[in-house]
Amino acid sequence: MTNRITIIGAGFAGLAAAEKYRQKDGHAEITLIAPRAEFVFLPSLIWLPSGLRKASDIRVPLDHFFERLHIRYHWGSATGLKQGGRVVVTDNGEVENDGLIIACGGRFIKKLPGIEHAITPCEGIEAGEAIRTRLQGLASGTIACGFSGNPNEPSAMRGGPMFEFLFGIDKQLRREKRRSKFKLVFFCPAPRPGIRLGEQAVDRLLQRMADHDIEIHIGHKLKGFDAHEVRTEGGSFKADLILFMPGMTGNSWFGGAGLPLSEGGMIRADAYARVEGFEHVYVAGDAGSYPGPDWKPKQAHMAELQARAAAVNLHAGLKGEPPKRAFKTELLCIIDSLNRGSMVWRSERRSIMLPQMRILHWAKRLFEQWHIWKYR
Ligand SMILES: Cc1cc2nc3c(=O)[nH]c(=O)nc-3n(C[C@H](O)[C@H](O)[C@H](O)COP(=O)(O)OP(=O)(O)OC[C@H]3O[C@@H](n4cnc5c(N)ncnc54)[C@H](O)[C@@H]3O)c2cc1C
Repeated sequence: MTNRITIIGAGFAGLAAAEKYRQKDGHAEITLIAPRAEFVFLPSLIWLPSGLRKASDIRVPLDHFFERLHIRYHWGSATGLKQGGRVVVTDNGEVENDGLIIACGGRFIKKLPGIEHAITPCEGIEAGEAIRTRLQGLASGTIACGFSGNPNEPSAMRGGPMFEFLFGIDKQLRREKRRSKFKLVFFCPAPRPGIRLGEQAVDRLLQRMADHDIEIHIGHKLKGFDAHEVRTEGGSFKADLILFMPGMTGNSWFGGAGLPLSEGGMIRADAYARVEGFEHVYVAGDAGSYPGPDWKPKQAHMAELQARAAAVNLHAGLKGEPPKRAFKTELLCIIDSLNRGSMVWRSERRSIMLPQMRILHWAKRLFEQWHIWKYR
């Protein structure tokens, strides 16, 4: 019997799930739903402001990937589910399946008053390009760079890239010989920003900011933004350019689809990436909330581990077998600053931080090139 598999999303999780499922079953009818037939290598957004990368370098059309793996592409966005997940409703018709993997990522909580005055750098290529344009247009001033979390789900946040934008902009301005004309301010409501990277990492990051003449404004709840101001309960400060990454939550259609949600609004799953209470429905990547340690990250690496587990377990489940693969939780992160990187690696047993090295910057580029080559 030919199984019909539907995957929602064309990011790290969606593509890894598609690849793995195809490996397990050469005959399955795989349909991938996404609003665009392209993969954007999000970690390289940090290199758009400096011009190290441009949009076309990190945007990969997926036509060849789909053709090679015999995947049917359904243009559209999922808006709901019917029949316990056997039908995906999209803004471009319905798609039936025997098994479903939801991999549509997360979204940012944009509730703070005046948030429209801040650029949310991780939203995509347009945001990265907007930072570049604004930086080019500023002769001097204050650049504020910060992030916050989802108070209902500590793991639903993205702090690492904000350190990268901050140190990257510092390096860029130094290269352009105009750093002295700018004040850089890092802000975050948490007293220990980036604590999921480990205590040692937070100390080192704060020390690096001090060494680089970056002002630190942390531990104060955010009140909002104005066009030229960041307001917190611990005082306000002027800023000519505000980069801010809010906490993350799940897509707005999840609740209406009857999916089980975590406190933070993500799809609740078990250690096999199965969605609780749904048969043959799995979630992978940023869209899900999974069991694991407090520091479990929302990262591309984890998204791929979850996606491969989801594909293997879905394949087994459709044969009437129990799930075979649980994914391990691992935090692996290179914090880049344009020509060097420091690395944090955390597992259930160990936590390691390597100091800034050129080779780690190149390792990050290698990871990028490997993905782009694979999907192009
Ligand atoms: C600036 C930046 C730097 C980062 N650096 C790193 C790093 O160094 N290392 C690392 O491991 N991770 C890093 N990350 C995190 C990593 O990119 C994410 O964790 C990863 O992209 C999550 O993959 P995903 O497939 O779950 O979601 P996404 O990559 O967000 O993909 C979601 C996909 O679903 C599609 N979609 C959305 N809504 C719908 C819908 N309703 N219907 C159908 N399709 C939909 C989207 O178009 C997209 O194709 C970084 C992220 C950013 C933004």
